[in-house]
Amino acid sequence: MFIPFLAPGHMVPMVDIARLFAAAGGRDIRVTILTTTTNARRISSAIDRDSLSGRRISLLTLAFPFKEAATPEINFKLFHGIELLQPEMIDLVRTHRPDCLVTDYLYPWSADVSAELGIPRLAFSGSGFFNLCIADSIEANNPHAQISSESEEFVVPGIPNRVTLTRSQLPDIVKGEAKLSRFFDKLKQAERRSYGVIVNTFHYLEAEYADHYRRVTGLKAWQLGPVSLFINRNFDDKINRGGKSDVNAENCLNWLDSMKPNSVLYICLGSLTRFSKAQISEISRALEESSHPFIWVLAKILKPNEGKEQWWLPEGFENRVKQSGKGLIIRGWAPQMAILEHASIGGFVTHCGWNSIMEGVCAGVPMVTWPIFAEQFYNEKLVTQVMKFGVSVGNEVWSVWATEELPLIRGERLRSAVEVVMGGGVEAAEMRRKAVELGKEAKRAVGEGGTSSDELKGLLEEIRGCKSKRRGVEHVA
Ligand code: UDP
Repeated sequence: MFIPFLAPGHMVPMVDIARLFAAAGGRDIRVTILTTTTNARRISSAIDRDSLSGRRISLLTLAFPFKEAATPEINFKLFHGIELLQPEMIDLVRTHRPDCLVTDYLYPWSADVSAELGIPRLAFSGSGFFNLCIADSIEANNPHAQISSESEEFVVPGIPNRVTLTRSQLPDIVKGEAKLSRFFDKLKQAERRSYGVIVNTFHYLEAEYADHYRRVTGLKAWQLGPVSLFINRNFDDKINRGGKSDVNAENCLNWLDSMKPNSVLYICLGSLTRFSKAQISEISRALEESSHPFIWVLAKILKPNEGKEQWWLPEGFENRVKQSGKGLIIRGWAPQMAILEHASIGGFVTHCGWNSIMEGVCAGVPMVTWPIFAEQFYNEKLVTQVMKFGVSVGNEVWSVWATEELPLIRGERLRSAVEVVMGGGVEAAEMRRKAVELGKEAKRAVGEGGTSSDELKGLLEEIRGCKSKRRGVEHVA
């Protein structure tokens, strides 16, 4: 049984993994995904297709308590609603008694219920090993405690490469400022009590960090990625991954067909990012002044003090873009996987959500990194300081919402970062070479005999082993 967390960046890869289990498991593995009715609607067409093709996979749904979850603070609303779902989820797990529980690491209670049922819990972390290692080092060593200024760089101690960060790039919880820090301690304890951890990554990308993590935590960990590439092999899977696309994907791909290889910039700053009007204006200006055609998945703006969201663009911008044919603007859910894979995409401006990084890696596309919050600043450093297939736009300040008070990333800065990645220089060529190499390795990892393919087979065997062992114990008892 799989229980994904109810945010796209967690849900999308975990559903891929559930589908992978069903595809690779054969007749003796039956997969159930437990989620809310709204989220089930986003993924049901993929699950129906799998099930029609003979895979043993189904959805089990429950209703999200919208009314009860209506707290005034928008960012606690989701957490609160999910907390309210917990008793019902636990009841459903007890009733269905699965042989293995695969849950998001944000569900610490699942470690208790799996212990109660005597079944393994696999925690899905949502990010990569690099982030897990950095987070662990920072928590254990507090390197930022010695630094007086927010903008002074410090080196992250005890990890395989030299990686630098600033205090201003650290998440609130690390600096002990947020209400959520106790909750995060609980998550960590639950992770350590789990049977193991599943990570959406592959050996070639993070080998040293996978070893480091296993050594430091003593946990078993499986690398099953890139999960997007591993399971989504046909057109329907790709264009509607994680939800029905809000644009006509064929029109979008036809437009890309009309462009030169590696010429188009794709800009998407994740499913949760909200900007100020001023920041949207700067991005619009950069895109208009740059010579590269683009596809822009527009982030909403948040009205100050109201918590209301809406899309907004500077007057006339969209008409000018339409008339010149220079770009496409997407409001809502974009077929990201299909877009990134297109040969005309030559650069990706990303907020460094882990899934986006993995998808960009699969497509062999160099990146302009623009981290905003969560663990995105850590992920950025893998791209810019370790693997070196991207360049930073230079955001220095971690913040959940890009309010009017935050320093702006000026259009000029975005344009010059895009030029470094998409221009004709030596640096651009080297970053593209590295990105293409990683893309090839990603494909190899999920192919027959690849590292992720083998780890998946090994994991399924281990789950079967746990079940037989339990049956043996029950039999003796
Ligand atoms: N995504 C998508 N279309 C969109 C926005 C996002 O398909 O319009 C997918 C994207 O491909 C990725 C996930 O949603 O798989 C977002 O996860 P990520 O870790 O990149 O960022 P988050 O949204 O969690 O910050």
